[in-house]
Amino acid sequence: MAILIDGKKTSQDIKNEIAARVAEIKTEGGKIPHLAAILVGSDGASQTYVGAKVKACHEIGFESTLVRLDETISEEELLAKVEDINANPDIDGLIVQLPLPKHISVEKVTDKIKPDKDVDGFTPSNVGRMALNWPAYVAATPYGIVELLKRYNIETSGKHCVVIGRSHIVGSPMSILMARNGYPGNATVTLTHSRTQNLKEIAQTADILIVALGKPEFVTADMVKPGAVVIDVGIHRVEDASKKSGFRLIGDVKFDEVAEKASAITPVPGGVGPMTIASLLYNTLLAAEKKVYG
Ligand code: NAP
Repeated sequence: MAILIDGKKTSQDIKNEIAARVAEIKTEGGKIPHLAAILVGSDGASQTYVGAKVKACHEIGFESTLVRLDETISEEELLAKVEDINANPDIDGLIVQLPLPKHISVEKVTDKIKPDKDVDGFTPSNVGRMALNWPAYVAATPYGIVELLKRYNIETSGKHCVVIGRSHIVGSPMSILMARNGYPGNATVTLTHSRTQNLKEIAQTADILIVALGKPEFVTADMVKPGAVVIDVGIHRVEDASKKSGFRLIGDVKFDEVAEKASAITPVPGGVGPMTIASLLYNTLLAAEKKVYG
């Protein structure tokens, strides 16, 4: 049976470390990190995600500002709001919760965020800096995975890492991070996607398998090499009458059978998911302490 890579515990450890640093900053009379979040519209899931981020700020002693904007706001008005926050010296980090209404260009809005406040790590500047192995705000999910590998002392150098999925927010940055000269990194990386042929055979050669394709229980035990490390990014709700909520969460990996074969594995829930907020808070601390752009 594989070692369980516990994202819930690790994310709490990170939050405790950040809270301890905030307490030091307070004692030193320094500036308390301040995160601003823009929420456009009233999508239920987005409200929940933003609410969780604001609550986490509160728990660890950060300041936070939630800017709620109506669904009908124009692109120009939203861009102006981003400009306001860019220019506000009291705010260290800014996130714009996605998705945005269809009449607003995500690219234009992302590009408007000042790179040194882009704690989601989505701007071209931060993606480029990450690829160059320069100090950067790394996007929350890839950063969370890197932190899990580090804190569980998973050897990556010289290993074959197969990433399934090439999205801008998970698979693609993950492949860059795993190939970087550093730790975690120095892996030989194969990035796969929906056009990849012989995916099963490729996955079977992975020492580290990072799965982010968004298909429930896609990866089965016969796709996994004995002793592989398996990171499951997928999250799906499936109906389950035995649960009070009426549903349970599953990942992109068929957990029970793969856990029998892997050496270490992230569960769903409680694996990669809880790491994302901790990563955002960490980036906001870096922003407040001017550790990325100086
Ligand atoms: P996405 O944008 O939909 O991208 C999916 C990727 O998987 C695409 O590159 C696609 O290939 C590839 N793909 C689809 N079917 C495939 C197949 N049969 N074989 C190989 N590759 C295939 O997804 P995402 O945003 O990266 O998210 C992936 C999953 O992670 C989702 O379940 C999402 O909910 C979850 N997620 C979780 C977290 C977290 O915090 N835990 C964060 C983000 C996402 P093409 O490029 O060729 O279309």
